[in-house]
Amino acid sequence: MRDRIMARIMGNGTSAWTPEQLATMARLRDAAIADPYALDELRHLTNNIGPRLSGSPQAQAAVEYVAAEMKALGADVALEKTSVPHWVRGAETGELVSWPGQTPGTTQKVVLTALGPSVATPVEGLTAEVVVVNNWAGLKALDPAKVKGKILLFNKKFDKPLAAQEGGIYAYGDAVVYRAAGPLAAASAGAAAVLVRAVGGADYRIPHTGQTMYAPGVDKIPAAAVTAEDADTIADLASQGPVKLHMVLTPQTLPDAPSYNIIADWKGTEHPEQVVVVSGHLDSWDLGTGAIDDGAGVVVSMQAIHLMQKLGIHPKRTIRFIAWMSEEEGSQGAATYMKEHSAADFANHIGALESDLGAGHPDGVVWAGKPALGEWLQPVANALEPIGAQTFRSSPETGEDINGLTEKGVPSFAPSQDGRYYFNYHHTPADTFDKVNPRELAENAAVMTVVAYALADSKDPAPR
Ligand SMILES: [Zn+2]
Repeated sequence: MRDRIMARIMGNGTSAWTPEQLATMARLRDAAIADPYALDELRHLTNNIGPRLSGSPQAQAAVEYVAAEMKALGADVALEKTSVPHWVRGAETGELVSWPGQTPGTTQKVVLTALGPSVATPVEGLTAEVVVVNNWAGLKALDPAKVKGKILLFNKKFDKPLAAQEGGIYAYGDAVVYRAAGPLAAASAGAAAVLVRAVGGADYRIPHTGQTMYAPGVDKIPAAAVTAEDADTIADLASQGPVKLHMVLTPQTLPDAPSYNIIADWKGTEHPEQVVVVSGHLDSWDLGTGAIDDGAGVVVSMQAIHLMQKLGIHPKRTIRFIAWMSEEEGSQGAATYMKEHSAADFANHIGALESDLGAGHPDGVVWAGKPALGEWLQPVANALEPIGAQTFRSSPETGEDINGLTEKGVPSFAPSQDGRYYFNYHHTPADTFDKVNPRELAENAAVMTVVAYALADSKDPAPR
């Protein structure tokens, strides 16, 4: 046992990396912590280019900008054409027009935001009584006659204590199903429109947008999220008597638009055909500027190639940067990548990384693959120990855009970020550049760079 522990610490002869390669990992780690490239790129993507909704001019500008930046680093850059939804947010307003205890002649503002790809209300808006349920069971228990023609509010609370203890992703998973399937359930029950309580832990009465779903054969009804505060107010008033809301949504769904994944290869010296993917998604929702979701994932992936160039490091295998398009509205870019590459290509995908859970401190890496992979990675974990990122855990999934690769048997990885606060900002107007802590962003860049290098330069490919 002691020998095994020592072997792990020392990275002995069974390690996939030589002492020189382990020293290179340390150099890359330290360079990532000191180098402002990722932060500077994020500043440009968020402040200068701004929100990058699929199909928007800003998304296209971001494609051109990032492609040029990767070319400037000396990578081989290709744009992979895909087709993406082109939904445009319009006006969105809401106000209570009647409720118990109302002061005559007044209305009360409700803060709401359309979910993508919601249909519009009539131009003059829609006015109806709001029926509140807490969950699916609440809807099932209702007499359908009570829902018909009304606005149905799914008031599913985001479990903040769970988010604080276990990480936001668990609380998000519990609540996001209402955002995703609420319009179908509401329309099936005959509702005229649907509201969902904002999914996330945000205070300060800010709404949380995101993708919802329609299905053939079910009426497409206007769908919006209301802030947690407004959901509480409406629920309280509705418990006292009838509450009527006037809402206006004027979004438009335009024809699908051409767009691109950016693929930038830092060519391997011995096995250029073997690739290790480092990636994030370039598109974002439009309320904020897409800093934590997912500008951060894109720039820490750019940083991996920048540091290779800066330090003159050329691993045996190719490091492939990918900026995925349209993750938010259905992962069309990732689907195109899976379609455009063959089984033989995937056999040459040695590993894939994606960062898409913000830029909080990473305590290590989550990986998906055979159990042997965990043992094999131990020297890499040791290399990340000085920045507190040495905890490697297995997980069935690592990232939305690389799940297809995981399913093909490609070992996949993601930094395991501190996600306790991520859902306070994610998909809200507050997802802006200032929410990214420069030191923590640099730690994520270090994780991406070191793991990508380790996979690209190991003696044999990672176990799969
Ligand atoms: Zn994302």
